[in-house]
Amino acid sequence: MKYAPIPVLQYQSILRCADFLHLLPICPECGEKAIDYLYVGDKNTGIGYLPIWCNKCKQGIQLSRVGIPEGAKKISINDADSIRKNIPNFNQVYPTD
Ligand SMILES: [Zn+2]
Repeated sequence: MKYAPIPVLQYQSILRCADFLHLLPICPECGEKAIDYLYVGDKNTGIGYLPIWCNKCKQGIQLSRVGIPEGAKKISINDADSIRKNIPNFNQVYPTD
């Protein structure tokens, strides 16, 4: 079952709540409670990108050039090994506007 596409505004809300992503109720694509995220960025600038994916259906989004909040789960953009180990290959879905 495919849920309706979610508007970009909702993704922006997700970003604002990124510290609480583990509390997100369900995946908008499959309805399972299996959302995960990991900031990938530069520790000097505090800027990076943010993949958000579902561990169940392996769909997700990626937000570019985001500020990394204090205390958020993050890895270095230079640590290719960690990126490969911690972020699954997921199909990127594109929000509607
Ligand atoms: Zn899902």
